[in-house]
Amino acid sequence: MSFLKISHIAIAVEDLDAASKAFETLVGNKVDHFEEVADQKVKVGMLPVGESRLELVGPSDPSSTIVKFISKRGEGIHHICFEVADIRAELRRLKDAGFQLIDDEPRHGADGHLIAFIHPRTTGGVLVELSEKRK
Ligand code: ZN
Repeated sequence: MSFLKISHIAIAVEDLDAASKAFETLVGNKVDHFEEVADQKVKVGMLPVGESRLELVGPSDPSSTIVKFISKRGEGIHHICFEVADIRAELRRLKDAGFQLIDDEPRHGADGHLIAFIHPRTTGGVLVELSEKRK
């Protein structure tokens, strides 16, 4: 069993509008949709890059978790998301291999995907997201 591809790389930004313009110029493509994730108080912009995407994540409120992240570590890469075929099987495999799961059970993410996070403590300081596409 192996991961299928890099789904997206998420970047924490202070100002989503300004960062969107900068990354659109960098990549030469347009953010194709924005969405607000209310329970995390973030706004997200999805910028396609070939088969993958950049996910620009900015705060929608000063109490957002992304504000805490940026005040501790500065703007920059927030997480890497891998697409997998069977998220429950991958979570079992990784747990057995000693990785620390943030989500033991997958939850519903954007576009109806199932997602789960792996703690950066066991992945070289990088927050890892798994995503399974539902048909
Ligand atoms: Zn993500």
